[in-house]
Amino acid sequence: MKINFNVPPYIDTAMDYIAECVRNQKICGDGPYTKKCNEWIEKNTGTAKCLLATSCTHATELAAILCDIKPGDEVIMPSYTFVSTANAFVLRGAVPVFVDIRPDTMNIDEKKIEDAITPKTKVIAPVHYAGVGCEMDTIMDIAKRHNLKVVEDAAQGVMSTYKGKALGAIGDFGAYSFHETKNYSSGEGGAILIKNPEDAERAEIIREKGTNRAKFFRGQIDKYTWVDMGSSYLPSDMNAAYLYSQLEVADKINEDRRASWDHYYERLTKLANDERISLPYVPEECVHNAHMFYIKCKDIDERQALIKHLAANDILAVFHYIPLHSAPAGKELGRFHGADEYTTKESERLLRLPMFYGLKPEQVDLICDKIEEFYA
Ligand SMILES: *Cc1c(COP(=O)(O)O)cnc(C)c1O
Repeated sequence: MKINFNVPPYIDTAMDYIAECVRNQKICGDGPYTKKCNEWIEKNTGTAKCLLATSCTHATELAAILCDIKPGDEVIMPSYTFVSTANAFVLRGAVPVFVDIRPDTMNIDEKKIEDAITPKTKVIAPVHYAGVGCEMDTIMDIAKRHNLKVVEDAAQGVMSTYKGKALGAIGDFGAYSFHETKNYSSGEGGAILIKNPEDAERAEIIREKGTNRAKFFRGQIDKYTWVDMGSSYLPSDMNAAYLYSQLEVADKINEDRRASWDHYYERLTKLANDERISLPYVPEECVHNAHMFYIKCKDIDERQALIKHLAANDILAVFHYIPLHSAPAGKELGRFHGADEYTTKESERLLRLPMFYGLKPEQVDLICDKIEEFYA
């Protein structure tokens, strides 16, 4: 039996909830299920305002507009991330300034941020890799001292915390992803988390094509009109219904993933103690959501050989980001500040193992057996 790398989460109630949307002819955006999802996220993260979006990419674009990014502005981010972290700001004319990562968490190295700040810097965009929090106290302190905004790419961080605070709800804005590869999914989807209530009204307007339609629906004004720049970032309520079926049982999904993660960790500790591989590190301040289980091999050749060995055994394991500064668009549109001490080297060693809701202990055992076999 083949073991896939990812299986999208599915909860039975999704069928009923989607059927309800269809029966009630409520399938456009901002229907009852979108409201339930927004409220769930607000309640569980403590953010002042949450708005579901069509993707994490769009949520980040919305955040970039809310930060008033102008051509020539600079945004500090890791190079080891998904293209959307950079694109959201590039679309507004900004220059991504890439900073090296920490080898232990694969997150932006908070100690290397301050040196990359110039008079053009507007935003720091930390990415919480694998759902493990960045060193947010340090990042928030730097932002405060230099009068910068913080936009958290928390695509992978739903249900994770840093010092008890939900990832995505610490910076000025946070972006979640509900893509089918994430812990909670609506197929394609995302959300923006807004810390300051003053930003909420403008966010609603930009998300609704630059109109004050949301206010109109609440009966606060008697007609709606074009008041700002904007786009269309509302998902269909059917997508929200699919997502809500999972949010309702978020703890159950989280515990299931955590059990698989712990099982991998325990089984692979011997190989790590023998210094054949490295295991992920989770700082004491962080509670993670088991978004990902990765190991690090000696180098890229060993990693590619292990991917092949696992594939030959019907196990799909994959590598991850090619650092953005080495990609064609990254070279043209951004720059790397300082030395690339770890970004390239560590990304080449990293291998992601199958991880999804419903992964069975026997499957984890089989995968670990095959990894041990490779190193024997
Ligand atoms: C998945 C992901 C995104 C993009 O999410 P979409 O919802 O597909 O737009 C952005 N950043 C990171 C770090 C991601 O993992």
